[in-house]
Amino acid sequence: MIGKNEKTEKKKKDENDIAENVSTNESIDDHSWGMDLYPERRGAKLKRSWFKTMIGLEGRESLDNVRCETNVYYCIKNSPIVKLMVAALKSSGCEIDIRRHISCEVCGPYVTGGYDAELNQVVICQNSAVSKGAVQANLLHEMIHMFDYCRNKLDLKNIDHLACTEIRAASIGHCSFLGSLVHGYSSFTNIKATHQNCVKSKAKLSVLAAHKVTPEEAEAAIERVFTKCYNDLEPIGRRIRRNSDDMTKAYAEAYLYGYT
Ligand SMILES: [Zn+2]
Repeated sequence: MIGKNEKTEKKKKDENDIAENVSTNESIDDHSWGMDLYPERRGAKLKRSWFKTMIGLEGRESLDNVRCETNVYYCIKNSPIVKLMVAALKSSGCEIDIRRHISCEVCGPYVTGGYDAELNQVVICQNSAVSKGAVQANLLHEMIHMFDYCRNKLDLKNIDHLACTEIRAASIGHCSFLGSLVHGYSSFTNIKATHQNCVKSKAKLSVLAAHKVTPEEAEAAIERVFTKCYNDLEPIGRRIRRNSDDMTKAYAEAYLYGYT
């Protein structure tokens, strides 16, 4: 996705951001790690189609960008769960500067956000995560990856590590927010199993989006680490269920874990 020359150019432009990473980390050249889902990453500027601009399909990137940054700012200021993640990252020695560590960008189809471990940056897709709720869900998900990267020296090239952090993000975020009941494939008597199934299927999709492995390899990795990673609720302490006050409770209990 990016040649050696472009890399040097980018290094000059953003010396403060990526200087440490570029020279030491060869994975920047690895195309199979999902980075092509984020066309604006590392200077590969979005190519604009004149035709699409004329008929109004493109050319609204700056409006989308402002809306996205406004939503990010709103969540950082007002969302209990996002505030808890910010506090948890800070107390783990990985304080967030929202201008440096969160970036609103145009993404390819089918993605709403991402975490760039090389730049330690959360990407929110301004063209697909358009509501405050979507931005909040994506911030939570990606900040769990950021937390794992900070706390556990996550190696995203290791498929077990990747599976683990995706299990945690799905469990604490997506599957709790959406509530597996909403998906319609669950019964009230089997909520726990349903939640686990939701986590497994969501984590599998995320692993497959991030790395070129077969569905069987993704499933095998998820099974290998599932119990350990599913039961690791740091730094939230309890799963966040939709339509409950868990989100507020999690924030209220954060002091017990030393996060505020
Ligand atoms: Zn993820």
